[in-house]
Amino acid sequence: MNAAATAVPSSPHVMNTYGRLPIAMSHGRGCRVWDVNGKEYLDALAGIAVNTLGHAHPKLVPALQDQVAKLIHSSNYYHVPNQEVLARMLVERSGMTNVFFCSSGLEANEAALKLARKYGHDKGIERPEIVVYEKAFHGRSIATLSATGNPKVQAGFGPLVEGFIRVPLNDIEALKKATVGNPNVVAVFFETIQGEGGVNPMRAQYLQEVRALCDAQDWLLMIDEVQCGMGRTGKWFAHQWAGIQPDVMPLAKGLGSGVPIGAVVAGPKAANIFQPGNHGTTFGGNPLAMRAGVETIRIMEEEGLLENAATVGAHLRGRLEAALLGKPGVKDIRGQGLMLGIELDKPCGVITQRAADAGLLLSVTADSVIRLVPPLIMTTAEADEVAAILLPIIAAFLAENA
Ligand SMILES: *Cc1c(COP(=O)(O)O)cnc(C)c1O
Repeated sequence: MNAAATAVPSSPHVMNTYGRLPIAMSHGRGCRVWDVNGKEYLDALAGIAVNTLGHAHPKLVPALQDQVAKLIHSSNYYHVPNQEVLARMLVERSGMTNVFFCSSGLEANEAALKLARKYGHDKGIERPEIVVYEKAFHGRSIATLSATGNPKVQAGFGPLVEGFIRVPLNDIEALKKATVGNPNVVAVFFETIQGEGGVNPMRAQYLQEVRALCDAQDWLLMIDEVQCGMGRTGKWFAHQWAGIQPDVMPLAKGLGSGVPIGAVVAGPKAANIFQPGNHGTTFGGNPLAMRAGVETIRIMEEEGLLENAATVGAHLRGRLEAALLGKPGVKDIRGQGLMLGIELDKPCGVITQRAADAGLLLSVTADSVIRLVPPLIMTTAEADEVAAILLPIIAAFLAENA
């Protein structure tokens, strides 16, 4: 353990809910972060796909300072003008029609699940059921952990919410078989690219087949783009690579560049399900979060960050593939744009600490998948640096465990 690690105090009064590294961050700039001891890190985690614009972005900071000085929070008792501005931005970029704002990913998914149930009830279905997926992650509220396909997330929190049918990824026959003759199905719900589950993409053809099935059956297609959305893959939303459109799309993480925010975007089939009194939140859509969302999208476009995510992501992937593909111990390299996963053939959580020691922030998810979700401002040179730090760490890990 390095000197920086031992200097970090423990937290006796904060609940012990995270397996934290012994590091505390102080400040950042661009794709760099410094800890309280002055050690510098290259950020390939972005606060788990949150810091879209990196740290202390020179256009975002003054905008947020301006907003804080004017109004942080008012209330949904009143209109918040930037809710309409941000809703319109999301609607135009998704081709959908209406937005509900909240403050996190699980809240966005919770709203989606409520939409699906009410959609069913409005059709006379008293016990609506929603199709969800193996290895999915949708959050840690009781309903969203029930939708999640990870027994570790669910353990200890039963009874789970009922009304979910679970199927494997990318298997249209399995989906048809699991739902055949069931009149209670109302929606199909998945991530375009699973994040926590190990960077597992849905294939374009599968997405198109599910879209067609939802149309034929009059189900809602609900796509959780909390992690893979907001430009990360090189399009605004990852499902757009398949040329489809969902009926309901939860967003969060990257939408506010670090300010807590969530949104549910709905198409015509789901836009008018909620009526006054059906859903709400105190913080959702507040002036600070809305300003963060509006400025994030504006700056992303000014700086061409969709293209950047695509090109720098492809470059980084190329570097990783050239060095790793076919090596014993390397199972797969997956993902799109700046959402990449390197799957090894054994649990490799230790790489998180080793990378941090070497000055690189990343995470390991689903036990054996090294996940890279850097800020979308990352340059090709910085991507080269990510590879230069990470590849020897992977090589050493594979050599020890061969
Ligand atoms: C992170 C995540 C969530 C949960 O978001 P929170 O803001 O932590 O509640 C939901 N779905 C996906 C796909 C995520 O990656």
